Amino acid sequence: MSSKETRFCIWLEELRKEDVPLVGGKNANLGEMLAAGIPVPPGFAVTAYAFKYFLEKTGLGPKIYEMLRKLDVDNTKELEETTKKIREMILNEPMPPEVENEIKTYYIELAKRLNMDPQTLRVAVRSSATAEDLPEASFAGQQDTYLNVYTPEKVVEHVKRCWASLFTARATFYRAKQGIPHERTLMSVTVQKMVNSKSAGVMFTLHPVTGDENVIVIEGSWGLGESVVGGKVNPDHYVVERGTYRIIEKVINKKTFMITFDPAYGKNLHLKWDDEKGTWVAEEGVEPTAPLVKIARPDIPAMSEEEVRRLAELAELIYKHYGKHMDIEWAIDLDIPFPQNVFIVQARPETVWSAKKAKEAAKPEAVKVTGKKIVKLSEAKVLVRGLPASPGVAAGVARVIFDPKSPEAMEFKEGDILVTKMTDPDWVPLMKKAAAIITDEGGMTSHAAIVSRELGTPCIVGTGNATKVIQTGMEVTVDASRGIVYEGIVEDLVKPKAEAAAPATGVVAAVGISPEQLLPLYPVTSTKIYMNLGEPDAIEKYKDLPFDGIGLMRIEFIITDWVQYHPMYLIETGQQELFVNKLAEGIAKVAQAIYPRPVVVRFSDFKTNEYRGLKGGEKYEPDERNPMIGWRGVSRYIHPGYAPGFRLEVRAIRKVREEYGLTNVWVMLPFVRTLWEVKEVLRIMEEEGLKRSKDFKVWIMAEVPSVALLAEEFAELVDGFSIGSNDLTQLVLGADRDSNILAEMGYFDERDPAVLKAIRMIIRGAHKKGKTVSICGQAPSVYPEIVEFLVREGIDSISVNPDAVIATRRLVASVERKIMLERLEKILEKLENL
Ligand code: PEP
Ligand code: MG
Repeated sequence: MSSKETRFCIWLEELRKEDVPLVGGKNANLGEMLAAGIPVPPGFAVTAYAFKYFLEKTGLGPKIYEMLRKLDVDNTKELEETTKKIREMILNEPMPPEVENEIKTYYIELAKRLNMDPQTLRVAVRSSATAEDLPEASFAGQQDTYLNVYTPEKVVEHVKRCWASLFTARATFYRAKQGIPHERTLMSVTVQKMVNSKSAGVMFTLHPVTGDENVIVIEGSWGLGESVVGGKVNPDHYVVERGTYRIIEKVINKKTFMITFDPAYGKNLHLKWDDEKGTWVAEEGVEPTAPLVKIARPDIPAMSEEEVRRLAELAELIYKHYGKHMDIEWAIDLDIPFPQNVFIVQARPETVWSAKKAKEAAKPEAVKVTGKKIVKLSEAKVLVRGLPASPGVAAGVARVIFDPKSPEAMEFKEGDILVTKMTDPDWVPLMKKAAAIITDEGGMTSHAAIVSRELGTPCIVGTGNATKVIQTGMEVTVDASRGIVYEGIVEDLVKPKAEAAAPATGVVAAVGISPEQLLPLYPVTSTKIYMNLGEPDAIEKYKDLPFDGIGLMRIEFIITDWVQYHPMYLIETGQQELFVNKLAEGIAKVAQAIYPRPVVVRFSDFKTNEYRGLKGGEKYEPDERNPMIGWRGVSRYIHPGYAPGFRLEVRAIRKVREEYGLTNVWVMLPFVRTLWEVKEVLRIMEEEGLKRSKDFKVWIMAEVPSVALLAEEFAELVDGFSIGSNDLTQLVLGADRDSNILAEMGYFDERDPAVLKAIRMIIRGAHKKGKTVSICGQAPSVYPEIVEFLVREGIDSISVNPDAVIATRRLVASVERKIMLERLEKILEKLENL
């Protein structure tokens, strides 16, 4: 092959940025993208040399330049006439056969590579102007593009049209004014397969609305991308998590318009969906025959999930390649199989957020962070005190935030300290980033407390006034084991934490002992020790702890984080599979990690105000005065307003057990109040194919006093109970579990004799009927005396927070031994008395 400089055609993949003088910026850039693994539609460049050769070989060059020399570009009429003449000269002059044949050969070869017929392979023919020795020159108005060109002859003709477009009046005038000599300006041409778009659209390497850099946002619709770019259609919308490529948001919109090429008419048709006829109708008034007409429907996704993930991968690749956020146009080809069918057609730097970031970097930081203030514990100033809801110590910059969707929340960074009034499920993404959490309100069983323990994040709740005392930008140290927030970085508290190893895995790694070797070293107990868990990803951190199963898997985490939409909304919009699949995926992750140990999955237990916070939720949830004792738990599952959603939850369980074979998954019903509702919900579950059996247990939460009062009757209906001491305490004592005043005054206390009596009734009633009893409320994680009480009462298992697993196992072992010794002593006493 001859050297690049004297070739007429060069494949795009052979080109690099150094080749700008040969093929222009556009072609060189396409070559660079291919080299970086970014799939642009395949094709070749007709070089600037081919154009130069044409001008020289035909003798047109000197004639044209002579005409231009005489031209007064300020005389519009003359400009128009001369340039028109030049263009005609180019179009009427046959190409030298060596150039023409080379272009045809490349085009035919391109069709061959794609397994397509060169008589029908459609290509785009685009100008890519270049100026010798003038790499910086701009070529405004010289970028003619011809779409849907096919047959070798037509391609040759359009290459010539591109050449001619170098001499439009506008381009000629522009060069003259810029002082760019006409002789040094040449025209290269791109010949690239037209993507036969099944679907197309745009994507951003950050969230175009919020600026969130942790996600990639993809929008697409049927047919050519024009309808999305031009805003003619409401496209499908996906948000994909950067790094994991998990689809975290999916909205399928009704796409009633598309543009697609129709070979029967040799042009693009603009098609509208006719709801009555149930077909696409062309605005052009012809009968559409394009293959896409059969495939595309307004309500079904225009892209598959694997295509979406592939697009996200490409977005990431482009972002890395250019080192900045990009706004990308893409298309998926109908003629080619996945994954070769996914193409990038355009990539340009994203401007809105990038400019904002640059501006922010230039101005002094909006949030003033005080210089690192290191203080000694003995001299540290106490800012606030509260309830130690999740143990640990953390130090960092505090940010006071009142709304998880506010601009301040967007600025919250990994490792900041979150200070707020109270959290709810909408706050979870922010909570995950926080090094510690401080709230004004709430007790030990409030949302903030429960989630923080799950996340292993230090948390202090019920401080009363943290949002007033602590200011955004302050450096603070949070001692959540004792419930104190200090001003500054308290060295004595922070240091030991950094050196201390995390439980289980950390220790194991440090001393080089495998978990299998370590587990037998923990004491054996006859009371099982279970662990509470909701966030599926957390199982990785905790799976080697010495627990016998998951005694409470709260699925609310999966719903807010992974699904994000209200199940009834998903049903109404035909996306119920998203709910079933995500839920199944989250549960399976945990069940798989600890198999064959059981996982007791609790059906959803949001309150109406929390369900309402899910996307699309407002429509389905009433505004209740007292959501805590409102439409909650089983009362929802048997009501037509939520029963379809509950059935999806049941289907997810079936999927995990039957499709994934994870038969260690059991279920639990929350907030059970009456016998009849249990019968009704069991009937619905059976209808959905989920029936109690030897290896499939159905438990109920014992957290409403009625269950304690009628424990024996409830025991007839189910396999076991799990005591929800949080709600049970609230309802036995009539003390709001979220009230910090009542907590501080000592009202909310699981050790109250009335609560203990209710617990005793549950254990005895269940055991009378041979059913098991567990506990999954907060109490045993906090009070050793409750653990002792439960073991003495003969509870079958105790489910505690991850941080309490080891201590609880040791405590239970010692209590069990103590009980044995006491009983032995009694027997000996009796023997002695005989
Ligand atoms: C409980 O009430 O004790 C319980 C475990 O459930 P939740 O805290 O989720 O209401
Ligand atoms: Mg409860």
